[in-house]
Amino acid sequence: MLNDTNILSMDIANRTRLAIKRIDDVVGLHEPFFMGNEKTYLNQCIDEGFVSYLGRFVGEFEKKICHAMQCKYAVAVSNGTVALQMACLAAGVKPNDEILMPTMSFIASANAVSHVGAIPHFIDSEPDNLGIDPQKLRQYLKKIYVHGKNKQTGRNISAIMPVHIWGCPSKMTEICAVAEEFNLPIIEDSAEAIGARLDREYCGSFGKVSALSFNGNKIITTGGGGAVITNDEKIYNWVRHITTTAKLPHKWHFIHDKIGYNHRMPNINAAMGVAQMENLSLYLIRKQNLFASYKLKFAEFQYGRIFEPPADCYSNHWLIGLILHNYYPLDDIFHQLDEMGIKARPLWGLLHQQEPYKNHPRCDDLSCAIDLSKRVINLPSSVFLGT
Ligand SMILES: *Cc1c(COP(=O)(O)O)cnc(C)c1O
Repeated sequence: MLNDTNILSMDIANRTRLAIKRIDDVVGLHEPFFMGNEKTYLNQCIDEGFVSYLGRFVGEFEKKICHAMQCKYAVAVSNGTVALQMACLAAGVKPNDEILMPTMSFIASANAVSHVGAIPHFIDSEPDNLGIDPQKLRQYLKKIYVHGKNKQTGRNISAIMPVHIWGCPSKMTEICAVAEEFNLPIIEDSAEAIGARLDREYCGSFGKVSALSFNGNKIITTGGGGAVITNDEKIYNWVRHITTTAKLPHKWHFIHDKIGYNHRMPNINAAMGVAQMENLSLYLIRKQNLFASYKLKFAEFQYGRIFEPPADCYSNHWLIGLILHNYYPLDDIFHQLDEMGIKARPLWGLLHQQEPYKNHPRCDDLSCAIDLSKRVINLPSSVFLGT
């Protein structure tokens, strides 16, 4: 039986298929795209016998990351969550500290903080850039923050973690001003933000330290992978050292001066990363085109709009989101889109509502994140769509 939701889903499906120029394929949310030297470089790893931590691709990949993000240093690691965890340690986050972050993020942001024994503390987002709301953050800090502590819990608050949602830079000018006012370091979760910038400033360069992800669903993938990026030489040296078992350089002796981690990215993953990065500019152009195509096809859609980053943002459009004007039964829509071969997805479950975080500290007002979570449909956004 045809009902309103059904008509709405069909309308979304038709516009999506026109935008992505795929008539009847089953389309995923974000699938990897290989068009360059991936196979050649992977074969080189095997031919040369360097598949693990030694080999030339790791350093080359790190150089390409620095170039793409306009930062001084990068350490390639095994995934984005670990990158974020190392970034927290490098920024001086201690067990039992509280880290302020948006509740509207992927769970890895909170998990990384938990992995260092710290406590994610959830703040609302704003609707323009979709990042942590600087005004609400400031008001909230004025209320709860005294002498470096949360006066409600007695714990130290030791950092702010903005997350650049879908590759759109958060309101970093305002967020940095709040961070400065309260003397808190910024750890940027730039997992989704490769190549994205606010005016001329690249994501990852606002904070003390930042993390990238190269998971299979991100724009650039190494299968699994991540990177810690920074402009601080001390942080770079420390992260490099701690992620390679804290081994001191020596030709044959095994001497370690700390309890290190085994988190470096293997050469074989970096080889894929180098090949992918060779095409980053092209990928970003294709993303702009895909976004333009969606905007055009949804221009006269009455029930919602394609999320459009503010004019000062260069987003990488990792995910392209449709924001409905009203509340509709989203589960029915996702089910119907799925039946039509379109693997659209909702926003992540808000972090403060997830089982492991439901008793964690949060700002009373999370209204924007809650509202958006009921209205967002992420549409297929793979780099190869739209042409
Ligand atoms: C993907 C992602 C991560 C984690 O990256 P993994 O490589 O999957 O561990 C962290 N934060 C955000 C916002 C992400 O989207």
